[in-house]
Amino acid sequence: MAKRSRPTEAPVEAGTPPADGDKAHKRLKRLERELAELGATEAKRLAQLNEVRARATAVRTRLTTLRTTVAGAHGEAGSDVPPAGPIGYCMRERRPVEISDPEPVTLSNGRTAIAGTCSTCGARVVALSARASPTDRADA
Ligand SMILES: [Zn+2]
Repeated sequence: MAKRSRPTEAPVEAGTPPADGDKAHKRLKRLERELAELGATEAKRLAQLNEVRARATAVRTRLTTLRTTVAGAHGEAGSDVPPAGPIGYCMRERRPVEISDPEPVTLSNGRTAIAGTCSTCGARVVALSARASPTDRADA
């Protein structure tokens, strides 16, 4: 093997300025074409990426909606079970609310109650205990 055969036609080897310039020109053209192809590929990939992102967003939205629906269904199913905190009557909102930070207290009349703060507006809420304590009966 005396010479490596190159795919690009180069009649004159090294040393001749015009041929060298021609080679450089061809390389430039080839790189420009390559760049254009890469640009097209990039645009295509970006479009695909955007499409995938849009689909992911759509799926995420559906998932959130489904989770809300499932949570709502569970809430309805377990509506007979009281929520985490005890329920008291909020004087500020004039409606039954969940009591935050509940603590047992004894009222001036000797009855036990649950005192805490309204979970929605923060007002002080006192709820009488459902069952009368045995001492209450003994006292009366
Ligand atoms: Zn309240």
